[in-house]
Amino acid sequence: MDGQSSVKSSQYWEPLFPFLDLKAQFDDIKNEVMEAVSRVFEDQRFILGPEVELLENEIAALVGARAAVGCASGSDALLLSLKALGIGPGDEVITTPFTFVATVGSMARAGARPVLVDIRPDTFNLDSNLIEAAISSRTRAILPVHLFGLAADLDPILQLAEAHRLAVVEDAAQAIGACYRGRHVGSLGAAGCFSFYPSKNLGGAGDGGMVTTNDAQVADQLRRLRDHGRSQKYSHEVLGMNSRLDALQAAILRVKLLHLANWTRRRQEKAERYRALFDEAALDGNVKLPAAPPGCFHVYNQFTVRSSERDRLREFLRARGIPTEIYYPRPLHLQPAFGYLGYRAGEFPAAEAASREVLSLPIYPELKEEHQGAVVRAIADFYGTNRGL
Ligand SMILES: *Cc1c(COP(=O)(O)O)cnc(C)c1O
Repeated sequence: MDGQSSVKSSQYWEPLFPFLDLKAQFDDIKNEVMEAVSRVFEDQRFILGPEVELLENEIAALVGARAAVGCASGSDALLLSLKALGIGPGDEVITTPFTFVATVGSMARAGARPVLVDIRPDTFNLDSNLIEAAISSRTRAILPVHLFGLAADLDPILQLAEAHRLAVVEDAAQAIGACYRGRHVGSLGAAGCFSFYPSKNLGGAGDGGMVTTNDAQVADQLRRLRDHGRSQKYSHEVLGMNSRLDALQAAILRVKLLHLANWTRRRQEKAERYRALFDEAALDGNVKLPAAPPGCFHVYNQFTVRSSERDRLREFLRARGIPTEIYYPRPLHLQPAFGYLGYRAGEFPAAEAASREVLSLPIYPELKEEHQGAVVRAIADFYGTNRGL
């Protein structure tokens, strides 16, 4: 009943402009994309093949990793990475409860036990000060997430991993092109996991993913695991799966990759513009803007602010036609699927507070200045700080 009525009301609500405008992106690159699609149809090789290999080489070069292995999704990139590193039943992997479900889900799918550690309230990323206390004799890896396009605090994580002989697997699904102290995310740990889900900064025309690694043996194992465990036809060394990247996706992603640096720069310009507008509107006491720690190249997959009156603010914005999203409304330790882990409400206070307070505002390369102005004006009206913006 409830579901029905919410479907109905969302059907009648039209935002002034989209939360993410993939149609505008397509309009700009239509000819290049259609040319790539027809190239694959002329070739008729749809699974793996030369387009996938070329994309793997291009992503490896971008990230500064020795190898890249395409697969069916970012979720599978995580699962394949854990499996390629030999992580499975009996093992523990440390990560954050404030992330997309696939981060923790992939650990469970690998048969390992997710061990959760709270986040920093300013960056929404793993609090590296809390990790050591969570390390046990079963811990095999730390899996930081570069949430919303901002690198996690990697130096202390890499140091801890080295001291305890743990692997670091980076969930870089939201952070392609992001850097930490001059190095690309995805190149710093044992494996970096990327997603080409359409709403990511480099999005395909469907699902897709990739793992980057500096270890040639891990790359070989990833190639086997994604393709039924084989290195040659009908020779199956290990139990693998079907998680290959389609040539069509690779060809489209190669076209889009040529635009990624420009799109990232434009996302960053929109972020700076939000900061200037919020400043002008004197909203700093009411709304907390995303952290921009020194040494981090933030690629703004999301521009996520905090407000202690988030739900009322969101309703107010909706009535003004302003689209927003909540990533994420419930931390993973409170999701029924992970109830078996035995965590309770109150255990991760920073993640729980973030879930109550975060609000993601529209940010994408094609976002219009007038629409950014409308977003901030509406927020200023909500707080009564609008001084004639
Ligand atoms: C999108 C995402 C994934 C999963 O990627 P899919 O390609 O959708 O499977 C994993 N982790 C994070 C943090 C993500 O945002």
